[in-house]
Amino acid sequence: MEVRLAEHAGFCFGVRRAVDTVYEQAKTGKTIYTYGPIVHNEEVVNELTRMGVRVIKDRQELERIESGSVILRAHGVSSEICRLIEDKGLECIDATCPFVKRIHNIVADESAKGSHIVVIGNAGHPEVEGIVGWCSGEVTVLEEPEDAEKFVPPPGKKLCIVAQTTYNYNKFHYIVEIFEKKGYNKCTVNTICNATEERQRAARALAAQADVMIVIGGKHSSNTGKLYDICREECERTYYIQTLDDLHLQLPDAVRMVGITAGASTPNKLIEEVQNYVRINF
Ligand code: SF4
Repeated sequence: MEVRLAEHAGFCFGVRRAVDTVYEQAKTGKTIYTYGPIVHNEEVVNELTRMGVRVIKDRQELERIESGSVILRAHGVSSEICRLIEDKGLECIDATCPFVKRIHNIVADESAKGSHIVVIGNAGHPEVEGIVGWCSGEVTVLEEPEDAEKFVPPPGKKLCIVAQTTYNYNKFHYIVEIFEKKGYNKCTVNTICNATEERQRAARALAAQADVMIVIGGKHSSNTGKLYDICREECERTYYIQTLDDLHLQLPDAVRMVGITAGASTPNKLIEEVQNYVRINF
């Protein structure tokens, strides 16, 4: 029986890079902090805590820190947080995903030129908070097309429109069309990252060929739930597990291929464990 892993599964490039940075730094023996949990995965965060890495919850906590290195996670932070780290004489290790950093650079440049920045995304999400924090002038965050309909730009200002990296592509275009119809003077940069889409496409392709599909990810992870739904559409025998302990497979002889995929915060180690378990036991 064959066990096959989806072409894109688990951590995206940016999160993997940030998590690897923390593991590397943790080995140096320095005092290491991450600004927020490095990934939404308790096991990874707990393991790093055992290695001595501490999580800074917010700005107030950062203000109380006297020495050490602070790692910025893939979502990035505002320029104000970067400055605070610097002013305090702490080492700043920037693991902001380059795709997010690109947005910081765009909004910083455009607001310096006097544009009004429009960020399409969720205002409460740390990535969007970070992007907003790189705008030196006016900025508006819009989440839904209705917000775009109601939005009236300041007179005489050019708009610069960017998106949260995980925003829905079709909705982004719909909102941009609303602005086009209103005839606003604007520049639009599609800053959506295709990591989520690639993961979903790869899961569907594998599930269409598999006799059994295993989807690994946290119970409350919406992107894992979405992967499960996609796989279920293609493969009736799709199982959703959080850890290896949840896997109680009984496979008939007719099963020739088991496919595996995983949500965005599932570490490689867990994916490998599941892969090896299925290989050895069936
Ligand atoms: Fe991952 Fe894309 Fe976000 Fe970077 S921008 S952290 S690659 S989802």
